[in-house]
Amino acid sequence: MFNLDRLTRANIRVLKPYSSARDEFSGQAAVFLDANENPFNTPCNRYPDPLQRAIKQQIAGIRHVRPDQIFLGNGSDEPIDLIFRAFCEPGIDNVVAMEPTYGMYSVAAGINDIVYRKVLLNDDFSLDADRLLRTVDRNTKAVFLCSPNNPTGNPIQEQAIEKIVNRFEGLVVLDEAYNDFSDQPSWLSRLDKTPNLIVLQTFSKAWGLAGIRLGMAFASPEIIALLTKIKYPYNVNVLTQRAVLEALQHRDRVEEWIRTLRSERERMASIWPKIPCIEKIFPSEANFILIRTADPQALYDYLTARGIIVRNRNSVAMCQGCLRLTIGTPAENDTLTEALRTYSSDTSSLK
Ligand SMILES: *Cc1c(COP(=O)(O)O)cnc(C)c1O
Repeated sequence: MFNLDRLTRANIRVLKPYSSARDEFSGQAAVFLDANENPFNTPCNRYPDPLQRAIKQQIAGIRHVRPDQIFLGNGSDEPIDLIFRAFCEPGIDNVVAMEPTYGMYSVAAGINDIVYRKVLLNDDFSLDADRLLRTVDRNTKAVFLCSPNNPTGNPIQEQAIEKIVNRFEGLVVLDEAYNDFSDQPSWLSRLDKTPNLIVLQTFSKAWGLAGIRLGMAFASPEIIALLTKIKYPYNVNVLTQRAVLEALQHRDRVEEWIRTLRSERERMASIWPKIPCIEKIFPSEANFILIRTADPQALYDYLTARGIIVRNRNSVAMCQGCLRLTIGTPAENDTLTEALRTYSSDTSSLK
């Protein structure tokens, strides 16, 4: 049985959070003289809403959850770190994650002195849920899953996630940073029936707001309350809150970007297999495509010399020979495609 209290670190369970001026009075007033702010309009002289209520109200409407099921942080990085700090006892506990996947889980584990256990994906990058569950022990506080996965691009099979959510008694962190680009339904609709689930989403990808640093965690009100209790009081600044409230007024733009990026991804997925230097292209439901090539460093250098920067994933487990290519504008994708073609003819004429 899932028991949140037992999972929570003892010091966090008893912690009394810092209470800010804006926690103690959050309504409307004519004169604010409670927070030692400068009264002259800069216009950033006031502290932000520590609970980001206006934003959560809108996200709740869009994602069909309640505001008390939402945590907002300084990128997804913040909730990832807070999950370690709330639940994992340094030097004692561990987490389990699939490999390869997003690098931040392992970095956050390292910072918090938590053992990070890796479970290799199958050759087709699908997840063996039984193998993962065999890696779990009494001190495993969380399992990290990423779907669609970075850097592989594939979604993790729903049955595998379901099995882990049902059998594992700790927290299942499901990173849906790329779900907007995918045909798979989000797990948000199952939040109410899944007390051990934390879903991560972000404004950094489909929403086009990587620069403002705003990440979302969705979970039970009890888990959200714990993360909220230990965050920095004003973790989402005034400029970020204004920018996202503005962006939330233009959701049609986001939908249009998603349509374009998905159709560009399919266009590249049909063109690239015909380019000689591309040995393999992995199926993707994200806004990037992983490809395999004979000499990834040579191709990387060739592209860089032409002002095109991609991600070399050659040193990542199971990604030998692989580059990760983000889907850009149609013109950018054409530029990349042309460079891949000229690289192919340049290298074949050398042989
Ligand atoms: C890009 C990405 C994120 C987003 O991180 P932010 O800190 O919100 O910018 C989260 N998870 C994965 C797997 C990513 O690739």
